[in-house]
Amino acid sequence: MAPKHGLASFKSEEEQLAKRAKSSATPASRSATPADPGAKVPFEVKYPDMDDSKDRPDEEEELVAHAEWQVSPFEAKGALMEGELDQHFTVVPHHEWETMKKYNNFIIQGEVYKNNQFVFVRGENTPKDKDTEGQPKDFWVARILQVRAKNAQHVYALIAWMYWPEELPPPGTKSKDMESKESGKRTYHGGHELIASNYMEVLDVLSFAGKADVFHWLEEDDNLNHKLYWRQTFNRQTQALSKLREHCICGGYFNPEKTMFICDNTACKVWLHRECLVEDILSKTYSRLVEGDNGSPDTKTNGIARTNGKKGKGKPRFKGMFEARIKDDGDEAPKAIIKDLRPSADPKTWEEAIKCPKCSTELQ
Ligand SMILES: [Zn+2]
Ligand SMILES: [Zn+2]
Repeated sequence: MAPKHGLASFKSEEEQLAKRAKSSATPASRSATPADPGAKVPFEVKYPDMDDSKDRPDEEEELVAHAEWQVSPFEAKGALMEGELDQHFTVVPHHEWETMKKYNNFIIQGEVYKNNQFVFVRGENTPKDKDTEGQPKDFWVARILQVRAKNAQHVYALIAWMYWPEELPPPGTKSKDMESKESGKRTYHGGHELIASNYMEVLDVLSFAGKADVFHWLEEDDNLNHKLYWRQTFNRQTQALSKLREHCICGGYFNPEKTMFICDNTACKVWLHRECLVEDILSKTYSRLVEGDNGSPDTKTNGIARTNGKKGKGKPRFKGMFEARIKDDGDEAPKAIIKDLRPSADPKTWEEAIKCPKCSTELQ
């Protein structure tokens, strides 16, 4: 059965960080569930401090002496530097680990698994009768790095974890794209998105529930035909997510499950979030109807759009006065439906073309 792993919060001990939780909402059941002694994995991955200038206790010295170097199979497009996720590690007890023979592949139920293969892993909370077709999030996902076996009954794989966004720890400093305080999931994370990491663990291959098809999406297109994908990494040492391609007037990221609007002006071609576009429409409406600004291009881009209609902090000025939504059905150009909520308003609701907040070209 499964590993008891979890990503805990930023300040926890290294050891806790290496353990994986199915979800941060269920820590109690995780610790309350006794591990299946039959499937207990006798190996643990340690990350020794390889800095030779430091004095090390004997125990650490031994880890250093037996350390292996792992080149991460994950190179995110927005990595801070090449090899960011590469690291030294030591599997303990090291003698038992080192004396086991290495294999390039193994077979479970007639299926051949090779190094670098993505796999579904049964977790403690994975329903026994579930298969990986229905709810992939009932499972954990990992990538095989190394396989060793004592005999046919004892086959172990060193793996690197992939995380569902909900499993990420909340960032040390608040970020505005967080979905909740409880997890590190961001608004741009899609429902089939995984985040690659350099958290490693040794698993009994009997905890594998099948092969997983995980696509490395480079964000060069918005055609994601693959069910599961990764584009971002989470670094164990820095607890940081890699950068993604920036879009929109907000500099935010693309959630492939949400529509973005693209400016057709070849010199602009900006991709815009629906929410950001609505805010821009509302602040332009406010300027025009309340402040009497007839909308010279300068004020639009410099004064209003960039501040999202807000004066300093606090709620937007148009709040309670106007509402807007974007109508984008069919092949027609998207239109803004604006509602004037003020009692004396006439007309109450109207439709207008949408202009790109960046270059003022009408969206087609
Ligand atoms: Zn935006
Ligand atoms: Zn534009």
